Amino acid sequence: QFRAVFITKPEGGSHQAELRTLGQADLPDGEVLVRVSHSTMNYKDALAITGRSPVVRKYPMVPGIDFAGVVERSADPRFQPGDAVLLNGWGTGELYWGGLSQYATTRADWLIRQPEGMSAEQAMSIGTAGYTAMLCVMALQSHGLTPESGPVLVTGANGGVGSIAIALLSHLGFMVTASTGRMEEAPHLQALGASAVMDRQALSAQGKPLQKENWAGAVDAVGSHTLANVLATMRYGGVVAACGLAQGMDLPASVAPFILRGVSLIGVDSVYAPMPRRQTAWDRLAKELPAEVLAGNTRLIGLSEVIPLAGELLAGKVRGRVVVDVNR
Ligand code: NAP
Repeated sequence: QFRAVFITKPEGGSHQAELRTLGQADLPDGEVLVRVSHSTMNYKDALAITGRSPVVRKYPMVPGIDFAGVVERSADPRFQPGDAVLLNGWGTGELYWGGLSQYATTRADWLIRQPEGMSAEQAMSIGTAGYTAMLCVMALQSHGLTPESGPVLVTGANGGVGSIAIALLSHLGFMVTASTGRMEEAPHLQALGASAVMDRQALSAQGKPLQKENWAGAVDAVGSHTLANVLATMRYGGVVAACGLAQGMDLPASVAPFILRGVSLIGVDSVYAPMPRRQTAWDRLAKELPAEVLAGNTRLIGLSEVIPLAGELLAGKVRGRVVVDVNR
């Protein structure tokens, strides 16, 4: 028997999340059985648990788009019992039972080996949020952005994606400005590597299509007016990696930054990113994210604390990353 966060929606009833004890026979079929040690709470997990957005596409569902643990049984020769693995996305926690559980079944094609020297807890303190931050950094770099190009902006700075994007960019030598609604957390953002911190209010409302040219690059986890204002404040030839919708799914922008300043907007998806790009991202995360920075950006909770925390996370009250020790 094992414990898992369990989401149900009875016929005609409403979406409900609870902590449940399940048996191995309850698990869906899968090539690989993983004994999960750690999972995490991403924005999407909080949406799934609260039911605030239609993240869960099949009921009943075990949420958790990420997990790390040890292979217990594998029908695929690439994995053996005892292998330390991690998983992000592929519809896990949305269409397939996920990682907020002591056991998970999955496809061998979706698993990544935990990078050398990285613990399961560290892997989950990165999680989808941190891996997405790295995908954003890779997108900016593939577009030619270097520290010499000029300063970069990170929005949603105190969130999972934002906080790790700051750490990664500053480690690479970029001058990073962090945009946040929590100015009181400025010392934490500076400790992560931000050289300046700005109040997100300046970006939150409808602005002019073209504004003062500030940034050579940007990572946006917020969308809506924020992304529109980010585009409007890019320098000539600037590049923006857009990955989130914390303010909203809309993009009330004009084409002016694209056609008058040659600004580029790159979309970043982590869920179905191809395996070679994931592998590169995780290899780089293992090398480029200092362990002490990661530890200072992470809070550890037990499985029973997950459901109460979901609302807090959506309200933007959680700082950095939350790791779930599923055995606690
Ligand atoms: P998170 O930890 O909850 O962080 C979101 C941050 O956004 C908050 O901490 C807050 O930062 C800011 N924020 C919240 N509400 C806002 C609002 N109304 N206006 C402006 N800023 C607001 O979430 P996360 O895990 O980092 O994810 C961030 C976003 O990226 C989410 O939308 C998530 O769905 C998306 N995401 C996408 C992918 C992908 O594959 N494309 C992968 C991971 C995440 P401050 O308090 O500092 O302002």
